[in-house]
Amino acid sequence: MSSRVLVTAGASGIGRAIAERFLGEGNRVAICDADPAAVKAFAETHPAAITAVADVTSEEDMDRFLTGLEADWGGIDIVCANAGTGGPAGAIETLDYTEWQRCVATNLHGAFLTCRWAARVMKAQGHGLITLTSSTAGLYGYPFRSPYASAKWAIVGLTKTLAMELGPHGIRVNAVCPGAVEGDRMDRVVAMEARARGETEEAIRQSYVKGVSLRTWVTAEDVANSIHFLASEAGARISGQILAIDGHTETLAP
Ligand code: NAD
Repeated sequence: MSSRVLVTAGASGIGRAIAERFLGEGNRVAICDADPAAVKAFAETHPAAITAVADVTSEEDMDRFLTGLEADWGGIDIVCANAGTGGPAGAIETLDYTEWQRCVATNLHGAFLTCRWAARVMKAQGHGLITLTSSTAGLYGYPFRSPYASAKWAIVGLTKTLAMELGPHGIRVNAVCPGAVEGDRMDRVVAMEARARGETEEAIRQSYVKGVSLRTWVTAEDVANSIHFLASEAGARISGQILAIDGHTETLAP
């Protein structure tokens, strides 16, 4: 397999793991990310990759980046609309509207701008794979995280709809739903939820595992492997699916 792969928010976290999984097999990989320092660090480690500082919620940033990419590559095989942010935690009456909007914009509007471009380019070439990153928060009610849950459920709706719109053009569209992924981001989320709920960080950390059948967190590499599977020949007939990589979540409110 040698594919042209785009990963949004690819400079760190899950996006970086996805990008590195594809780079490791000699594919051509492009990433964008809103954090200039993270992009610089990624570019230094992976000089073969195309890298850009771009905020997925900015139509101007994305137009500039994606137009350049299209000119360089002439098409795209795999697009991973991965960017997202956890948003604020708290009872709904305490939430700030600007923070709500930022959460929905990064998770959903960014996916729209990415998929709009991918659909046009992939339709013209008659093939392609789009993966969107939802979350187990897109499958269950998630008390005190209403902006994030709302945005991630919307990603499921976008995935099912695009699979129907684009399937007749040979384009597959699937979503992955990671459970709690070990790393910096969940450390931040745990601290934020502990403050919002008035509980200890350890209690919050335990609650994440308690609601999971395998009693486990997952890794960014687990998520990257699942996308790699979808992109492989073994995944060639899989579309419109919402794939949880989470050790089987029973509830997000254990
Ligand atoms: P992260 O918080 O570690 O951030 C990864 C990268 O995203 C960072 O480099 C950051 O600069 C970039 N980014 C943030 N906002 C951006 C924007 N507007 N435009 C471009 N880049 C932006 O995130 P992560 O944990 O790697 O999560 C990746 C995806 O997986 C997100 O959609 C997230 O919601 C989802 N997810 C994460 C977890 C988890 O436990 N970490 C679980 C389920 C789903």
